[in-house]
Amino acid sequence: MPTQDIRQRMNQRLAELYERHLALHEDKIVGYYTPGTGNHKPEETAESEHKRFAICLATTDGEVFYVGDHDRPFALQSISKVFVYGMALEAHGRDNVLKRVGVEPSGDAFNSIVFDERNNRPYNPMVNAGALATTDLMEGEDPAEDLERILGVLRRYAGNEDLKVDEDVFALEMGSADRNRATSYLMRSYGMISHAVEENLALYLRQCSVCVTSRDLAVMAATLANGGVNPVTEEQALASRYVRDVLSVMHTCGMYDSAGQWAYEVGIPAKSGVSGAILAVVPGKLGIGVFSPGLDVYGNSVRGIKVCEEISERLGLHIFADDAEDALLGPLNSGNGT
Ligand code: GLU
Repeated sequence: MPTQDIRQRMNQRLAELYERHLALHEDKIVGYYTPGTGNHKPEETAESEHKRFAICLATTDGEVFYVGDHDRPFALQSISKVFVYGMALEAHGRDNVLKRVGVEPSGDAFNSIVFDERNNRPYNPMVNAGALATTDLMEGEDPAEDLERILGVLRRYAGNEDLKVDEDVFALEMGSADRNRATSYLMRSYGMISHAVEENLALYLRQCSVCVTSRDLAVMAATLANGGVNPVTEEQALASRYVRDVLSVMHTCGMYDSAGQWAYEVGIPAKSGVSGAILAVVPGKLGIGVFSPGLDVYGNSVRGIKVCEEISERLGLHIFADDAEDALLGPLNSGNGT
């Protein structure tokens, strides 16, 4: 357990990181996601959204540190893909899931309608087509049961029984889903989706519309860092043998079509969502949840990227790094991670 002194220093570091990035220049922000428009709309939301910002860290010891709007809810959006992929692996095993969705970075946009021509599989589970395929692999009797199961799993990851679908976000998403709908019909024609298109689409968009806070997000990330066991509640959210698969796909495909740049600069598995959130995992050590709605040209949170770059650099978290500028994390983790 960290001492009071370490906690205090950690909180100071976070506060300083927050202040510096809060001032990040507007010209780096390309847009904000407005549900229901299917695109970025800077002018309408910039004023109210620009200041929203939170950074949370959760260690595999179950300690949580946060600064900023840590209790402000936002939709998981694409980050939900991580957890549903894990559920598909648990339900069907690696080989069967691999028949329906690959593990190759596509280099295409998240909503690409391009599939692997050799087998008609979506390239990976982190693009929309891949997530529509993993959603189709849910095994409940009906969509209501599937949704309950997904919510149950998300709640275990976060240790928060209150997580639920934001019905307003869902209605807006459903109202602008033609591209996902078109992708679904194409996949169904290839036999890659077996459920009714509208049902599967609604289940996918409902999971995207589940609201969390950045504190929830950090604990969800820490659960992945901790071999699938929530370090705060000690509940298992994902069978440990699938954690490796989920993290591998996050590492190569989790940051839209700048996943390569992220792997190069930050070097830890992560997933972002167009609501402006980033979930990042340092295996055996900690989970990071950052929320700031200003997006870059790829759809990634501008502040989120910068904050993660700096945390990775200062703590030497890049998987290929051999040094840390700041030794604070060492005593924070007494080593119960995987
Ligand atoms: N609801 C979004 C969609 O499928 C998710 C977008 C995202 O976060 O990438 O279009």
